[in-house]
Amino acid sequence: MAAKAMGYKVMVFDTVKDGPASSCADLTIVAPFDDTDALGRFAMTIDVATVEFENIPVEALEFLEERVPVHPASSVVRICQDRVLEKEFLRDHGFPVAPFRVVTSAAELAVALDELAAPSILKTAVLGYDGKGQISISQGDDAEVVWAMLGAPRAVLEKRMSFDSEASVICARSVNGETACFPVQANVHRNGILDTTVAPASLPPEVCERARAAATGIAEKLGVIGLITVELFVLADGSLVVNELAPRPHNSGHHTLETAMTSQFAQHVRAVCGLPLGPVDLRSPGVMVNLLGDLWRGGEPDWAVMLREPGCFLHLYGKEEAKPGRKMGHATLLGTAPEAVNKALQLRERVIR
Ligand code: ATP
Ligand code: MG
Repeated sequence: MAAKAMGYKVMVFDTVKDGPASSCADLTIVAPFDDTDALGRFAMTIDVATVEFENIPVEALEFLEERVPVHPASSVVRICQDRVLEKEFLRDHGFPVAPFRVVTSAAELAVALDELAAPSILKTAVLGYDGKGQISISQGDDAEVVWAMLGAPRAVLEKRMSFDSEASVICARSVNGETACFPVQANVHRNGILDTTVAPASLPPEVCERARAAATGIAEKLGVIGLITVELFVLADGSLVVNELAPRPHNSGHHTLETAMTSQFAQHVRAVCGLPLGPVDLRSPGVMVNLLGDLWRGGEPDWAVMLREPGCFLHLYGKEEAKPGRKMGHATLLGTAPEAVNKALQLRERVIR
């Protein structure tokens, strides 16, 4: 939608018919990611390719890369789609991460649990999102049982960090290496799923400066073109731990549609199309609340509650079925914390039938 607004024609490559992006694209190819005929036709039609999520087979991106610029590059997507590679990349480049061990069997898990000797979280290496593919482990839990429960061949065991708060920074890096970070935003997760984002985060300016420096450093070390979102834990002493990376627009940046001089989506398009990056200043502080399928428990929610509220912007994604924990939409309310947060949470309660 951001690319269309800038006058570009958009072609979507998707593996399923009627995927969300197709509804606003000029052209769509529906084919599996290993269909090189289809990928070839795609490459012949477009000037530049980008990705909307990171779980695309790297081989498909490599195939495209031989024919057309792909931003972010397959090398970036490869790292960001695999927790093991991501953690190792961060650690090897000196960015702070939670103590972790790579685990590929119950026996390795047992050793890793002994070594970390702390409450920890086991996360699948690939295809986890919204807290899926994660198991929280407490002292005394049985490695065999936990490993069987995870049901994945590779995983990362991570120390459970006791943080003061969570934050994220979205950094854009353009074709010519220009970088720009949006203001740091504060995130609250519930059940491993992002619940609310407050922008800007009310953290000390010095902490924000370090967060933005880390995000810029990660963007440069990765050589990403496009956006990189860096999720962070803020510890009690103000130090930062990088949780994970996403090489794309991020849920915690959806508020930029209304709060920022440039939305994260427009910024992504600018970055991958070789345009100057846009200003990242906020026009207004704001709060984003996610709208999960749980809100549908009494039927279609009463959206009029939000639509009547000045400064409230409702976004629904048009997903067919509302399931608990499924992200169905979000709402952004302009205003400052804590008042705007309370108001947004109240509005979200009141839409339930
Ligand atoms: P998404 O991709 O949707 O952001 P995910 O499923 O990849 O989520 P993570 O970001 O790894 O999962 O974790 C989700 C949330 O779980 C974190 O934002 C944090 O609240 C909590 N969490 C994850 N790892 C840790 C940790 N090591 N210590 C403490 N809390 C953690
Ligand atoms: Mg996360």
